[in-house]
Amino acid sequence: MTTPNKSYGRKTLHPTIKPRSLMDEQPNLTGVWQARIITLFPETFPNVLGASLTGKALQTGKWQLHTHDLRDYGKGKHRNVDDTPAGGGAGMVLRADVINAALLDTQSNAHGNWPILYMSPRGQRFDQKMAHDLSRCNGVTILCGRFEGVDERVLEHWNIKEVSLGDFVLTGGEIAAQAVVDASVRLLPDVLGNSESIIEESHSNGLLEHPQYTKPSIWEGREIPSILLSGNHGEIAIWRQKMSKLITKERRPDLWKIRNTKSTRTDN
Ligand code: SAH
Repeated sequence: MTTPNKSYGRKTLHPTIKPRSLMDEQPNLTGVWQARIITLFPETFPNVLGASLTGKALQTGKWQLHTHDLRDYGKGKHRNVDDTPAGGGAGMVLRADVINAALLDTQSNAHGNWPILYMSPRGQRFDQKMAHDLSRCNGVTILCGRFEGVDERVLEHWNIKEVSLGDFVLTGGEIAAQAVVDASVRLLPDVLGNSESIIEESHSNGLLEHPQYTKPSIWEGREIPSILLSGNHGEIAIWRQKMSKLITKERRPDLWKIRNTKSTRTDN
């Protein structure tokens, strides 16, 4: 028995007499951002996406999550999804025809601006700009690879964008997909409690964030910088901006350089 495709989030729960395997296709609510995930391990969702702010937003229907179990599209009695690499070599490759069948399903539910991503160490490095762009789409379909990856032809056929979490190799695309969805969902309107934190946080303006402190005011002999307790909001903003620049310059000279070439300002 295979795991049926599954939907998460309040607005996807409808009483139904259909078999569970046919249950996924609830009406697409226009205006609700959706993530459709193709994976061999649907039980690994929503995982951390079901917690805290993203989980609350999922429950209150600010976004929707649908998993499509790749096994359901597998071939033969054993629902095979993979085979040996053409040309030889180690491991197994996910079949183009199996992935294609899953994509026909996911994309029949897609509308408007809806990219398809394949999580892959060969892909473009995921960053905050990509998260912003995705949050402005109607939804996204994410293909999670396993084993040696997927047959190249299906990537070409569907014009799939490869996206990497970083220069390291994971066992599968699920953790990477969760990172991409998390970073995108928190930028949707009304998901974060305090929308100002989006404007100020690391990477939103090409800078890393300034240090943060909270109570107690003295801990292990260490004091909070006195300016932060002064109540002078103008001075606090200047201090934070200064620290932000200092930390970016020290830790990420690459970001600092980009910022300075873009900007004509000389106040560094
Ligand atoms: N043979 C492949 C690696 C396969 S790892 C290669 O050398 O490029 C198995 C799967 O894990 C991949 O198909 C991909 O979906 C996922 N994965 C591994 N590393 C990743 C990374 N850095 N970013 C995003 N996904 C990754």
